[in-house]
Amino acid sequence: MCSSVHEAFTGQTVRRRVKEAGVWQVKSVPVPDAVVDYNHSMGVVNSFLLHKELLKLRNPTQTKPHTQKSFREQLLKEMLVFAEGSAATPPPASTPTTCMPLYYASDDSRIRKHCKWCLNAGIPRVKTSVYCRKCQVSLCLTAKKNCFQLWHDNQ
Ligand SMILES: [Zn+2]
Ligand SMILES: [Zn+2]
Repeated sequence: MCSSVHEAFTGQTVRRRVKEAGVWQVKSVPVPDAVVDYNHSMGVVNSFLLHKELLKLRNPTQTKPHTQKSFREQLLKEMLVFAEGSAATPPPASTPTTCMPLYYASDDSRIRKHCKWCLNAGIPRVKTSVYCRKCQVSLCLTAKKNCFQLWHDNQ
């Protein structure tokens, strides 16, 4: 028994007939919690029975229901696809929600790109090392030239 939800043993017991010195008697036997739960619901193949019933309702004549074996194989496949899908999903990207000027590289001011605002205004080849982290556009931002503000005032 292997369970990730049960404690190993919480003091539960079950009553079992045991033969002691040739005499049958009922005794209380300690039982792991996982076994209690398993015994409670074993033998009930709910999902397979539902599958057969649903198929009968939806499609009384044509499709044959899965056999118990093929049902379990199909279920396994779908669970694997589901597990792969959830594992492959990347964590949510931390997209900045507010506009903020950032330098392309704090330790290398040589990285410069064309200012979007200047470009739109018909002034090509103006380069800047500042960009807006949300809009992802390069914009001049100096004491004399604030395309960053102009761009955002006009969005
Ligand atoms: Zn922005
Ligand atoms: Zn500019």
